[in-house]
Amino acid sequence: MHDSNLQFDSLCEYVLKSVNAGTLHHGMLIECSDEELSLELAHITANALVCTGENKPCGICSACVKAKNNNHPDIFETDGRTKKSDAFTIDSVREIRANAFIVPNEANAKVYILKNGQNMNEQAQNALLKILEEPPSYVYFIILTTTKSSMLETVISRVSTYSILSKTDNITDEEREYVSEFVSAILCPNELKLMEHTSKYIKNNRLAGRVLELLSAVCRDALVQKSGFSGEFGFPEEVNSLCNSLTAKSLINLVNICNDLEAAVKRNVNNNLLTVRMCYEFKRAIGR
Ligand SMILES: [Zn+2]
Repeated sequence: MHDSNLQFDSLCEYVLKSVNAGTLHHGMLIECSDEELSLELAHITANALVCTGENKPCGICSACVKAKNNNHPDIFETDGRTKKSDAFTIDSVREIRANAFIVPNEANAKVYILKNGQNMNEQAQNALLKILEEPPSYVYFIILTTTKSSMLETVISRVSTYSILSKTDNITDEEREYVSEFVSAILCPNELKLMEHTSKYIKNNRLAGRVLELLSAVCRDALVQKSGFSGEFGFPEEVNSLCNSLTAKSLINLVNICNDLEAAVKRNVNNNLLTVRMCYEFKRAIGR
């Protein structure tokens, strides 16, 4: 399918592992400039969530067949447009919210794929936030956007964000260096090293968020490599050392923690507390 995009493969792998483990977050934000690619990931995720088979998506149960033909009654896809407006309107969000409180038709989950997130105005996002804060247990929202900057910080803090970095995505030398140091600090038995490293950039919210985002991508790549894929990764050495030193479970933990911490950085949580939490959580994730 998308052999050329390992970010996509690693993301898929990670999301499906989370669905099968029952740990997928109820709110997902997929950021990608290629809308077809993000929609494909959304479809695969939705399919896995409604699948009744063992290794989701099994591809053979009736739910999988329906999902594949885009006619599963518990998967909803909308771009929120109305006759009057191209924007993703507050009225569309209200309709979705009302619908979400009705129990699923046949699956154990109800999945809403919200395309066009970049066209959702503040009002609409605030309306969505209400249900993102406390969604019914069976509801999953997958929001697609071409740019995360279009979303309110409050929304971002309530979802797991997955960015599919395109090849043209610029990683600066500074970011590259921080990510590389981060990986060695995580793997280093000396706890102070992680603390020292983190405190260097934690005060810069933008940079801290970006480093966590990239680290999450590197951990996903390592997970893919563990499953036997290989190829041109953006951070080959870092991916190798993570892949060789950690179990798949630890790598999944790390991805989750990166996502949580990225949200905490966005919420401007106290820097010192965040550094301590970061070190504690990373060490715990890898079982040290
Ligand atoms: Zn199935």
